[in-house]
Amino acid sequence: MTLIVQKFGGSSVSDAEGIKRVAKRIVETRKAGNDVVVAVSAMGDSTDELLDLAHEVTPIPAPRELDMLLTAGERISMALLAMAIKSLGHDARSFTGSQAGMITDAHHGSARIVDVTPVRLREALDEGAIVIVAGFQGFNRDTKDITTLGRGGSDTTAVALAAALDADICEIYTDVDGVFTSDPRVVPLARKIDRITSEEMLELAASGAKVLHIRAVEYARRHGVTLHVRSSFNNNEGTIVYNPAPSPEGEESNVEDPIIAGVASDLSEAKITVVGVPDVPGKAAEIFTIVARTDANVDMIVQNVSSAATGLTDISFTVPKSQGQAALTALSNAQAEVGFESLQYDDQIGKLALVGAGMRTNAGVSAKLFDALNKAGINIEMISTSEIRISVVTRADSVNEALRAVHTAFDLDAEQAAVVHGGTGR
Ligand code: ADP
Ligand code: ASP
Ligand code: MG
Repeated sequence: MTLIVQKFGGSSVSDAEGIKRVAKRIVETRKAGNDVVVAVSAMGDSTDELLDLAHEVTPIPAPRELDMLLTAGERISMALLAMAIKSLGHDARSFTGSQAGMITDAHHGSARIVDVTPVRLREALDEGAIVIVAGFQGFNRDTKDITTLGRGGSDTTAVALAAALDADICEIYTDVDGVFTSDPRVVPLARKIDRITSEEMLELAASGAKVLHIRAVEYARRHGVTLHVRSSFNNNEGTIVYNPAPSPEGEESNVEDPIIAGVASDLSEAKITVVGVPDVPGKAAEIFTIVARTDANVDMIVQNVSSAATGLTDISFTVPKSQGQAALTALSNAQAEVGFESLQYDDQIGKLALVGAGMRTNAGVSAKLFDALNKAGINIEMISTSEIRISVVTRADSVNEALRAVHTAFDLDAEQAAVVHGGTGR
C-alpha cells in the first residue's frame, strides 16, 4: 500500500469550514487506497495570537512555558481534524508530537529533531486509522519537556514523518499553488515553478521564502524525501522539490534548466557596524568569537578598506533582529579589550537574494542584478555571494520594489497574476 504524508498549514485550517474541507481531502486520499499520515499546523494566525498573549503577560516569556503554550495551537487543530474525519465515517486518531515519537534536542523555540520513533503511528496505521500528528512540536528525553521546532516547523514534522515511515511522497498543502519564482504576495507576476532542486529550494528558504521551513528542506535533502508543495484550495499540480541524481563526472548541467530559480527577500535581519577597529591581524577573529558566544547567526560580513591615516577600519555584519541586542551587549562589554571606537545598530535593512544553479555556468548574473537595482534607483549596502546565490542588502522600505525590479529584469514575470487563496501572510 502507498503511504502518503500530507501537511496542512494554518491558512488551510483557519476555521471549521477549512477543517471540514481538509478532512474531505484526506478522506479522498484514503479512499483512493492509500495509508495517510497528516501533520497539521495551528489554525490560522493562532500561533501569533498565543505569542501576543504571552507578551502581554510578560515581556520575556520563559522558553519552556512558551513552548507549552504554543504547542496548544496544534493540539486544537489535530483533535478537530480527527473529529471531522471520523464524522465522515473513517477512523482517525490524533497524536501530539511526543506521542508520535518526535524526539528533539532540548533547545526551546528552535529544537532539532534527533530521532523519530513512530511506534504508535504504525500501530494506528495497521489498525486502518488515518493518523493526525500535531506539527511543530517534539519532546526531549533528558529534560522530559515539550519543545517546538521554530516558526513554520510543521513542514519539518511532515518531512521527518515521511522519512521515518518511509512514505512514498510528502505533500505540503498551503495557500498558494506551489513554490513561485518570488513571493506572490509581493510580486504578483511571480510564476509557479514545476520542479526545483532541493539545493535551490534550500537557498530560497534560507533567504526568506517562507513557503517551506528551511529545516524541512534540509531534512528532505538528507533523507532523500521528495516534496510536493501544492494548494489545499484546488487540485492543481504544485511544485516538486527533488534531489537530483548526481550527474556523471564532467557533465555540464542540463542546458534546458533555467539559470535563475527565483528571488527571495528577508526583513528579519539587522546590521551591526563595529566602527574604528584597529586593522591588525586577529581583530575579526576576536569580534566574531564574541558574537558567536551569544549564539547569534551571523549572515553577511563586510570589512571596509582601512584609512591609511588612522589604520582603523569598520566591520559590518548582519544578524537576525531577535539576536541583535545580545550581540550588541556582548560587543559593548568587550569594547576596551578589542579596542574599537563605537557600535552602530540598524534594523531598517532588507535582504534580497537571487538564487539559481545556472549561476555556476553563466557569467554576468551579478552585473545584471546590480544594473536592475540601479535602474530602479535602489542603493546596495552590502553584497555576498555563494555558488548559486547572490544576496544584497538594501533599505527595508525598498526591498519589495527591488524584488519586483529584479524579477522583471531576469524575465521571470508570468503573464497573469498569481492567486493567493487564503491566509493573512502573517
Ligand atoms: P502555511 O500556513 O501553509 O505553512 P506559509 O504562510 O508558511 O503557509 O507559507 C505560504 C506563504 O509563503 C505564501 O502565502 C506566500 O506568501 C509565501 N511565500 C514566500 N515566498 C514564496 C515563494 N517563493 N513561493 C510561494 N510562496 C511564497
Ligand atoms: N504553527 C506554527 C507557526 O505558526 C508552526 C507552523 O505553522 O508550521 O509557526
Ligand atoms: Mg509554513
